[in-house]
Amino acid sequence: MSQVSSKATATILYIDDDPLNRSLVNRLLTSYNFNIIEAESGLEGLQIARQETPELILMDINMPGLDGHETTTRMRSISGLNDTPIIAVTARTTKGERELALAAGCDGYITKPIDVDEFPHQIIAYLEGQKDTISKDEQQHYLGQYSQKLVERLEAKILELQEANTRLQKIDKIKSDFVTVAAHELRTPITLVYGYARLLQSAVGEINRGESTTDYVDDLANKIYSSVHRLSEVVNDILNITLIEADEMRIDHKPVHLKAVINAALKGINPDENNRVLSVTLEDLDDLPQINGDRTRLQQLFWNIFSNAIKFTPDHGSILVKGWTAHLPEASSKQEAFTPTSAYAKQGGVVVMIKDTGIGIDPSEQKDIFERFYMVKDSAYHTSSKTAFGGGGMGLGLPIAQGIVEAHGGRIWVESAGRNAEGNSGSAFYVLFPADTTKQQD
Ligand code: ADP
Repeated sequence: MSQVSSKATATILYIDDDPLNRSLVNRLLTSYNFNIIEAESGLEGLQIARQETPELILMDINMPGLDGHETTTRMRSISGLNDTPIIAVTARTTKGERELALAAGCDGYITKPIDVDEFPHQIIAYLEGQKDTISKDEQQHYLGQYSQKLVERLEAKILELQEANTRLQKIDKIKSDFVTVAAHELRTPITLVYGYARLLQSAVGEINRGESTTDYVDDLANKIYSSVHRLSEVVNDILNITLIEADEMRIDHKPVHLKAVINAALKGINPDENNRVLSVTLEDLDDLPQINGDRTRLQQLFWNIFSNAIKFTPDHGSILVKGWTAHLPEASSKQEAFTPTSAYAKQGGVVVMIKDTGIGIDPSEQKDIFERFYMVKDSAYHTSSKTAFGGGGMGLGLPIAQGIVEAHGGRIWVESAGRNAEGNSGSAFYVLFPADTTKQQD
């Protein structure tokens, strides 16, 4: 290590977003007794420079957020930093880069990769007052170019902020709709429990007076039971979506027959038992290979899709559940678009399709409906039935279904020609379990 000069105790602020660069320069200059402070962004650099007033600043140019030019220009307007030497250290070496850095306010320009023998001497020279210069004409030309670049960056940032703001407003609306709908979902069963409980209170007296029978009490108790059950479903949906978002949904992998799971799900939401006139057909499910999965979760997944198919299909419509397999196990195609005809679906293992003849879903909504809290219709018209035509939920059914499918390594998607409130446009939901979750039937 060569001796450099007494300046080699100076405090130097090094601003660079690349930790490897920072560590190299830090080691090198510390070994020459310089005191190095690091900053990983222009904004952090500005804050540290204000507090520490370093004797020299090394400035990377290519940084996200405020770049080196902009940080330098800003520093020049901060009292105490107007005259601090700022040296651009950059891999940008194309014509005009040096001039642009100087026009933006830098006093010097060092190219990367740095020359480790030369670097400390270059620093000392700048500390001792060396200033690189450009002619007046060049200064004017590059300042013009620089201000043009600043305005373009400003325009891009404003656009970005506007888009972010629109996105936030949408999320805010979805969240406040959710509060309205969740309150409604909770209030409906609570009102029923309250009402039936009051009836139960008076029923005791009525029985004693011989005005009522135990059958009546039994009926009230059952009604209270189903309302409390509904309440617990609402709370479970909210808890499930929280688990899915935290990527903490536990899957208990066991061999499962899809047909059995689908039948169990349908049993829980049979249209016939819910005053709906819909035909449900199961096709080609007998020979599907078993899935390695979680029976309870899979049942919930199909229940959610069936509930929607029933809610959004008018009476006298139909629901078809059909399965098929393909045997070309190939994991690399997972990034493909998910359509039943895509190679992914063909290669994928097991596909189950749930196709209804209901009101359909507009192509523009087909991605959004898998977003949590998303409902196509206005939350003001919300009803909480799981089976009545047009009934709604909390907009959590499909995100939960998607979370369950993805926890099994699979995919879910929808196809529909569009929405047609009269009914008959139809939607087809596809659930795909990839080959590695399936195993041949014993
Ligand atoms: P919800 O609990 O409100 O039903 P989901 O997440 O299950 O929430 O569904 C989100 C929205 O997607 C529904 O509000 C509905 O507008 C639309 N949707 C889901 N399934 C169907 C279907 N089979 N037919 C028509 N629209 C559907």
